[in-house]
Amino acid sequence: MKLLFLGPPGAGKGTQAERVADALELAHVSTGDMFRWHVSEGTDLGLEVDAIMRRGDLVPDSLTISMLNDRIRRPDATKGYILDGFPRTLPQAEALDAAIGADALSAVVVLDVSEDVLVARLLSRGRADDTEESVRNRLTLYKADTEPLISFYEPRQIVRWVEGVGEIEEITERILGTLPQ
Ligand code: ADP
Repeated sequence: MKLLFLGPPGAGKGTQAERVADALELAHVSTGDMFRWHVSEGTDLGLEVDAIMRRGDLVPDSLTISMLNDRIRRPDATKGYILDGFPRTLPQAEALDAAIGADALSAVVVLDVSEDVLVARLLSRGRADDTEESVRNRLTLYKADTEPLISFYEPRQIVRWVEGVGEIEEITERILGTLPQ
């Protein structure tokens, strides 16, 4: 099973993707986590993306796509995976289709959370890129670049909207309940 989690920053994608991946024994593939690992290890890629992430800008597609393509070819990905934070742009979505085939995704889970809840959650999280300016920028980029991907996947009839407010366990159950058997 290959799943994709979509939703604005602060929607809880990372938390829920981790829990659903555990429940279904899938690999959790988070491009944000991967970039943060590169930054903390000081790799060449990390040095390149550090300032971009602090501003809340998007890492260039070319870097992101090649990192993702390597990741989904690793052995643990053969059991299936959840993509969390990828694709974020149309070229990334097209690159994913090219890599795995346009009919390979079982579901696209969209976590639905209102904007005031998002901003409150992000500002209380305290990550290096959770400053007010970066948060505002990430929300703007989400609306401009990422939200349109819902319409990109809509014709495939695999989009599942899930209310992202409530107890963490409850939201996980909602997601599991909406996935194909
Ligand atoms: P959030 O849930 O707050 O959006 P993520 O961990 O998903 O956080 O991403 C953090 C940052 O990593 C993004 O703001 C961006 O700079 C970079 N990033 C992650 N995924 C991508 C991607 N698919 N394309 C471009 N940049 C990305």
